[in-house]
Amino acid sequence: MSRYWSELAASLVPYVPGEQPKDKKYIKLNTNENPYPPSPAVLEALRGAAGGDLRLYPDPSSTALTETIAEYYRLPPASVFVGNGSDEILAFAFAALFRTSEPVYYPDITYSFYPVYASLYGLESVKVPLTDDFDVPIESFYNVDGGIIIPNPNAPTSKYVALEGIRSILEHNPDRVVVVDEAYIDFGGESAVKLIHDFPNLLVVQTLSKSRSLAGLRVGFALGHPDLIDGLNRVKNSFNSYTIDRLASAGAVAALKDEIYFQQCCRNVIATRERIAGQLRELGFDVPESKANFLFIAHPDKPAEELFRKLRDKGILVRYFNKPRIDNRLRVSIGTDEEMDAFVAALRELTVAAA
Ligand code: PMP
Repeated sequence: MSRYWSELAASLVPYVPGEQPKDKKYIKLNTNENPYPPSPAVLEALRGAAGGDLRLYPDPSSTALTETIAEYYRLPPASVFVGNGSDEILAFAFAALFRTSEPVYYPDITYSFYPVYASLYGLESVKVPLTDDFDVPIESFYNVDGGIIIPNPNAPTSKYVALEGIRSILEHNPDRVVVVDEAYIDFGGESAVKLIHDFPNLLVVQTLSKSRSLAGLRVGFALGHPDLIDGLNRVKNSFNSYTIDRLASAGAVAALKDEIYFQQCCRNVIATRERIAGQLRELGFDVPESKANFLFIAHPDKPAEELFRKLRDKGILVRYFNKPRIDNRLRVSIGTDEEMDAFVAALRELTVAAA
């Protein structure tokens, strides 16, 4: 007979991260990492921080990092929260800013962590279907009776809501918290950060994992009215007040200060994305316009699962989601030009030569 705690444990349905395989060296286009290394200034800062001070706890307020982000976005430090990757911040936001007496609204298809957090914190989810073209239906988020989270650009669809769309969702929900998850905003989108002064109900969440090549360091941040930031801090301090360690903090500060490297890196990823999107369309793929560091592609004749397996056999890893509506699509992160050329060549073999 199963005991109540085994049933409780089994009732938790966790997020399943993308593969990080160790069996051989792959061209890894499956978890939206940046193909370029972090700024050299980051490595230098990490070396500087890797000394005797590691015996000391880090600053629980992450003052240096908070102030660096505040300066970067021209906001007061009280409008900035830093966390151990944006996943952690999103978890805190679900706990601190959404009420269990009300549902939380998000698009259906979206980042699969949202239903996990909702269920963990006992929130009902209202999943708002995307349009046939995978767009977020803005008006379906007007005057809702609960919290809202919008990923922009959306994952895994790569599609983007223009700033005016975000503004109108905020205007139609003055009494609801609206979280905008901007993990991929630096690849061509316009951030909602500039709306923070007008909307005290807006929390913008970003990460250093993608555009700043620091997925391995685990640093994200949130920007918003100090009352929202206060809520996040209260949750953080109820779990672990030292979320950002000394090395992560030093590396993150250095990354944020190297604007030239950052801009160049984003430009490279965007240029590769546009070049590869064009080549895939020539091969007959449907490729929605992407504002992220990945493409969400479908072939009219070749099932995505088959392409996923055959690419894997050729040493190229992409993401396949076995879920309704998107089970014939692949999500492909933008790698270096050489990696993407190998990817297109492999797809050409699988779709044209063998057809
Ligand atoms: N939001 C979205 C939409 C994402 O795709 C990801 C990355 N998987 C994250 C947040 C979390 O990124 P991180 O925790 O590395 O900051």
